[in-house]
Amino acid sequence: MKVLVTGSAGRVGAFVVRRLIAGGHQVRGFELRSAGIEDGGFDEVIGAFDDREAAIRACEGTDAVLHLGAFMSWLASDRDKLFRANVEGTRIVLEAAAAAKVGRFVFASSGEVYPENKPEFQPITEDHPKKPLSPYGLTKLLGEELVTFQGRVSSMETVILRFSHTQNASELLDPESFFSGPRFFLRPKIEQQENFGNKAAADLLRAADPGRPALVLTRNEEGRPFRMHITDTRDMAQGVLLALTHQMAAGGIFNLGATEPVDFAQILPVMAQKTGLPLLTVDLPGAGVWYHTSNQRIRETLGFEPDWPIMRMLDEAVAEWTTRQA
Ligand code: NAD
Repeated sequence: MKVLVTGSAGRVGAFVVRRLIAGGHQVRGFELRSAGIEDGGFDEVIGAFDDREAAIRACEGTDAVLHLGAFMSWLASDRDKLFRANVEGTRIVLEAAAAAKVGRFVFASSGEVYPENKPEFQPITEDHPKKPLSPYGLTKLLGEELVTFQGRVSSMETVILRFSHTQNASELLDPESFFSGPRFFLRPKIEQQENFGNKAAADLLRAADPGRPALVLTRNEEGRPFRMHITDTRDMAQGVLLALTHQMAAGGIFNLGATEPVDFAQILPVMAQKTGLPLLTVDLPGAGVWYHTSNQRIRETLGFEPDWPIMRMLDEAVAEWTTRQA
């Protein structure tokens, strides 16, 4: 099979490319930057998703498209770029794929379409109402509509995967990581809250700064620790490959992520013990993050079985941390 993977230099895309090459498939990447993969089974088109000429070249001669690339930003200043990449870009890649008579198109959507941060019921199933609260979540919902439309008007099979929050295990204890830095480390979190303009939260966090690097357990204003899914890239790749190949995936919509959510009150003391960093607890204004998303449909329909629970990811993260400290 010749498979186009968009976002081929990204976290999930790069891993999926390698898995496909190892499985003997021909793979093409399509994205803004090179994946840096030197292999006879791989070629790439460097370009933006909303560049029609590049999208046509990328889709030409492929049997399937895994549209894993997207722009992720929650900054107001990135709004136009966000819609160009995720909505207009998805429309153009879809049209190029349909014109190239691609057999199957898999789309990486997001739990932000519900949104998971403010669910109406839990566990969140695929039937939960879709009322995104972030522009990023809206771009993913619009992307889903574009995918569904193209599935209706062309012969292309479509699969929508609503991705859990995803990390490489090595990112969990990296203060420089885009997601894990501000999630678990105090100073990156202060900077993030300042950038979001959340002055009250930034002030509370700054007041807790012990004057040296520290981990932070965030809770809501009533002292309830955050809880959310954090899924290993390798498990996400397993789900993407099932969506690519499984007969029962065609036309489906699936939540894709770890089975159990991560309770921050459980993992942060372990992180502190393993790193020797102090752990502070800060209660932030608002309801906080506290959700559980069901992956029952993808497990029962496609046989998805995640292998990387958070404690296994953490073991790897600690090993990386130790190497970095040395
Ligand atoms: P990533 O940011 O690591 O990779 C995305 C890639 O897309 C990047 O390499 C980037 O260069 C490329 N890209 C961005 N805009 C582009 C454009 N206009 N044209 C061409 N290429 C462009 O993302 P990831 O973590 O691998 O996520 C994969 C997918 O899953 C994305 O669609 C993302 O929205 C979705 N998702 C991710 C998470 C998460 O926590 N990582 C959660 C939910 C959904």
